[in-house]
Amino acid sequence: MIEASHLSRRYGEVTVLHDISFTCTEGQILGIIGHNGAGKTTLLKILSGLIKPDSGTLTIGGVDVLADPMQVKCQLGYLSEESRLYETMLVPDYLRFFGEIYGLNRETIDARAGVLLTQLSLHPDGKRIGNLSKGMKRKVAIARTLIHDPAILIYDEPGSGLDPMTSRFIIDYLKELRNQGKTIILSAHNLNQVEEICDLVMILKRGDVVVRGTMPELREQFGSIRYEVWYLLPDESLMTLPGGTEKSGNLWMSTVRSVSDLNSLTSDVTTNGGVVERIESRYPSLEEILIKIGK
Ligand code: ADP
Repeated sequence: MIEASHLSRRYGEVTVLHDISFTCTEGQILGIIGHNGAGKTTLLKILSGLIKPDSGTLTIGGVDVLADPMQVKCQLGYLSEESRLYETMLVPDYLRFFGEIYGLNRETIDARAGVLLTQLSLHPDGKRIGNLSKGMKRKVAIARTLIHDPAILIYDEPGSGLDPMTSRFIIDYLKELRNQGKTIILSAHNLNQVEEICDLVMILKRGDVVVRGTMPELREQFGSIRYEVWYLLPDESLMTLPGGTEKSGNLWMSTVRSVSDLNSLTSDVTTNGGVVERIESRYPSLEEILIKIGK
């Protein structure tokens, strides 16, 4: 369990995080989103014990991060937005190096590295890190965060700047890590992916938490379901149906916002000799919600 309470942080005179409180339970993925400069990276660094807040408290697995950052670091894997890797090293040596920092013995490190390379489909083929592709380097950085098998992962933009296939691979891998029981807090600009994998979403705006909850809770708060009804009509002069119609090819589409309007629209279509082709439910997307919240 991660419990953050009233965290604030200034850089010089500027307060970049104001009174942030939240909890995240084991085995959940919490997505932190917001426009550039909202404070996501600063918050993730505080959670990882890399920087201290000016006020507030933070416990991870019952350990006070501010009092005992070293103990927390052993339970935690942090991936920065742009991880600098040791370019001249070979991947196994690099993972060994970090495993040793965590006090693991050689046998454990090599076994764990083998599992991670397989899970991440990483085949460096004896290449030095500097000669690997961007996607492979990101996977190496992820393997490094997992070498000591931490329970908590703090990932800043894990899939950013990667080709769609690698980005998809990493998203699926995060789901797998959650299935293994890991707790993950991540920031991401790809809102579709956040929607897909996060159990909880927290939106930051200029250092404040504007909203926090599950996706259904956010949708409820920021908009309601709407139905798009697509239909064929025999005669275009009959186009007096409600809901703001628009045409695509020979199909008309009306949007309605309640089941009773949906029922009356579909019966109007059939009364006018038309045929309902399909009905689609639409929820506000995370992108629409973020745009609504503004900068
Ligand atoms: P995000 O990750 O949401 O883009 P950041 O946490 O990186 O936001 O930054 C939040 C604010 O803090 C920004 O205004 C940024 O310019 C400022 N900031 C971040 N790091 C520093 C720093 N080391 N010194 C001064 N200001 C900083």
